[in-house]
Amino acid sequence: MATNAHVWPINSGATRLPPNWSGWPGQKQFALILTHDVETARGQMKCRALMNLEMELGFRSSFNFVPERYRVSPELRALLTHYGFEVGVHGLKHDGKLYKSEKIFKQRAIYINRYLKAWNAVGFRSPAMHHNLQWLHQLNIDYDASTFDTDPFEPQPDGVKTIFPFSVMQISPQHWYVELPYTLPQDSTLFIFMQEHSINIWKEKLAWIAEHGGMALVITHPDYMNFSGTKFKVDEYPAQYYAEFLQYIHYYYQDQYWQVLPKELSRFWLNSYSLKQKTEIAQAM
Ligand SMILES: [Zn+2]
Repeated sequence: MATNAHVWPINSGATRLPPNWSGWPGQKQFALILTHDVETARGQMKCRALMNLEMELGFRSSFNFVPERYRVSPELRALLTHYGFEVGVHGLKHDGKLYKSEKIFKQRAIYINRYLKAWNAVGFRSPAMHHNLQWLHQLNIDYDASTFDTDPFEPQPDGVKTIFPFSVMQISPQHWYVELPYTLPQDSTLFIFMQEHSINIWKEKLAWIAEHGGMALVITHPDYMNFSGTKFKVDEYPAQYYAEFLQYIHYYYQDQYWQVLPKELSRFWLNSYSLKQKTEIAQAM
């Protein structure tokens, strides 16, 4: 663990402001995005509890489901949407093969695009944080969220070294999407792999992101959360840790953050911020 200390949980080289940056809407100090990957049917069964926990504290989040690993409940998707949450697509089968070759990716992209459309979703996250930002242009998305500022514990550990979103452009055919890297460590890394018994690492990283005016984006997994407080499985941690973190943000950073869904943040980036950039580029030419 000590060998990663210079890049994790904080890589101090990730704070560079985007070009012509004029800040978050409402002059907020930082952006806050909560996302969940629902790995299995077990996780799906806990989504309502997680949704209620967040709603009680006044937060909204996105839930990413795996279309062909378990039966994704249309009722749950409708309920989440009804209460102002977002639904996204998390891979296709979650079998580790999505990025095996460009041919496989292309074949699967057809199916992923069908689920995006059927679910009225605009966001994607790859299983295991595998990523190829060029191939991802084949998806009909506003944003992808399969990267991270810094995370040496990932199988493809190439961090993007920024705590801001960024646009990914393809010239021909012209296509844009926004990449949203996660910037807070995953719950599974902290509470399952490292067996942490506090949220101190989240607090430390959040303070640093807030200081530099970036985007705090966290991934948690209902699969690993225990809401009952008893009969913990080896790959579970108390959902209370996550609740404690939300309460901490709410009280400690009151009015200082823009709590936003990833689809809203990517719209802001594509319509307001990137558009301004594109206009400036066009005017300069
Ligand atoms: Zn996953």
